[in-house]
Amino acid sequence: KIITWDDVIGLKDVKKAILDAIELPLLHEDMIEKYDIKPSKGILLYGPPGCGKTLIVKAAANELKATFLYVSGAELMSKGYGYVVEQVKNIFNRAKENAPAMIFIDEIETVVPARGAASSDVLGQFLQEMDGVKNLKGVVVVGATNRPDLLDPAILRPGRFDKIFYIRPPTEKERAGLFKLHIKPFGKGIDFDKLAEITNGFTGADIASICQSAKLNAIKRSIQNEEKPNITTEDLIKIIKTRKPSINPQILEFYNRFEKEYGERK
Ligand code: ATP
Repeated sequence: KIITWDDVIGLKDVKKAILDAIELPLLHEDMIEKYDIKPSKGILLYGPPGCGKTLIVKAAANELKATFLYVSGAELMSKGYGYVVEQVKNIFNRAKENAPAMIFIDEIETVVPARGAASSDVLGQFLQEMDGVKNLKGVVVVGATNRPDLLDPAILRPGRFDKIFYIRPPTEKERAGLFKLHIKPFGKGIDFDKLAEITNGFTGADIASICQSAKLNAIKRSIQNEEKPNITTEDLIKIIKTRKPSINPQILEFYNRFEKEYGERK
């Protein structure tokens, strides 16, 4: 499925800032050269799991008609260091060949953890490729992490990941929007404000999963009773009661602390 901006609920300021950060280096390299601007080539998204980091980048790539290259940091690092160094080179080459392109590195803290934790080869290779991107046309690297505290500060230096965005958990209003989006096409008559009110701490992924369950139940019921599937507010409340929110105050505090330390760089 192609992801568009309409599939991303909330995060309005981030959407715009990401587009701004990406559009120039990705599509207007000539301007950058002409006016001698130092474009940002690396963008870091951090925040709790399931709040839309991957989603927002896919939507941005689609919006800008850029190639989206997904890399799972954890999977990459499970293969041994020699392989990783080769892979990092390959990914950057593929991006160059398919420019404009966005390299999305999920769980980037596994690839470039604080010094000492990883092979310096991988870090070296990675930083070299990052630095090389400055001279590439139309390639942007987006790193995502749930554990910004584990990153090597070296990659946060200007000219590397110099734009940093916090992908926040949804507000109450955004949670209503998330239910509306994910329950489609069964939204008729559902009290979305009520659902939003009782789901403090639930992420976009939590809400997507609740809606999936509700849809499955509705379809099962309709097969048994040979009627059209239907979902009510009560059906959803019942499922919500069996779930725990992914976000609690400690988790929020953890990300807020990082935000205070590194800020958001837009
Ligand atoms: P992780 O750190 O686990 O990779 P993530 O922040 O990248 O998490 P996504 O993979 O983008 O989260 O989100 C998981 C799913 O949750 C999405 O595919 C989508 O269905 C739903 N979701 C999360 N956030 C949003 C959002 N802001 N708008 C719409 N759907 C969302």
